Amino acid sequence: MAFTLTEKEGFSWVTSGTLPAKHLFTRRLSGVGEYPYFSNPDPQGEEREVWERVRALWRRFRDAGGFPAEGFCFTHQVHGTLVRRVTAAERRMPPLTPFPPDCDGLITDEPGVPLCVFTADCVPVLFHEPRAGIVCAVHSGWRGTAKDMMGAAVAAVTGLGGRAEDLHAAIGPCISRCCFETGPEVKEAVEALLGADAEGLCPPEEGVPGKYMVDLKETNRRRLLQLGVPAGNIDVSPDCTMSMSDVYWSHRATGGVRGTMASVIML
Ligand SMILES: [Zn+2]
Repeated sequence: MAFTLTEKEGFSWVTSGTLPAKHLFTRRLSGVGEYPYFSNPDPQGEEREVWERVRALWRRFRDAGGFPAEGFCFTHQVHGTLVRRVTAAERRMPPLTPFPPDCDGLITDEPGVPLCVFTADCVPVLFHEPRAGIVCAVHSGWRGTAKDMMGAAVAAVTGLGGRAEDLHAAIGPCISRCCFETGPEVKEAVEALLGADAEGLCPPEEGVPGKYMVDLKETNRRRLLQLGVPAGNIDVSPDCTMSMSDVYWSHRATGGVRGTMASVIML
């Protein structure tokens, strides 16, 4: 399995060979950098200009990606593990006023409903269960990973009639073990999640006492294996958002002054 880079109409994104459903993980240069949430439904002045720019970007992105005119289903992410079921009625175009409900994952069994999650170092994971006809998108940073976001996603899929053994999963570009320096709390959370399967995932950082280099991609992949997803159905992007911060938004590399990448999947 492998990821493929596509450049189209000023946008760039990667797609995974493991997912039969239409999907993409955007890159920074896609232009979907500005956050789509707005609290003011009728902004004026400078705020109005940003609002219009966000709207224009999302229209261009929607059309370049070939998504429905009605738009996308969105999360308002809170580093939790709630996976919300959505329908075509919830499709919207940014700027989003009011904010969508709090959740870190979306799932649907309806065709033509693009599910969108946001990341910039955290782990985006897109799922497709082709037998039952289900797609799911989740945001899984280290907190979500530790709270078992993969378990929540697989439970949401089985709750809609899907099966773990038929599930395909693509773990998208995110901060990788080369750059993810953490304190002991992350290492302990990974070990609590995976038990003996955490072996080798959180080695101490050389020459830096009390710090560990954690592999969040592999943590999520191993958790999916524990949950019964076949190894051959799981694809992992080789890209590190921090090492490649010229093409991806990285929260750490920018000190938090950043846009966000969108990961989208649709039946
Ligand atoms: Zn890196």
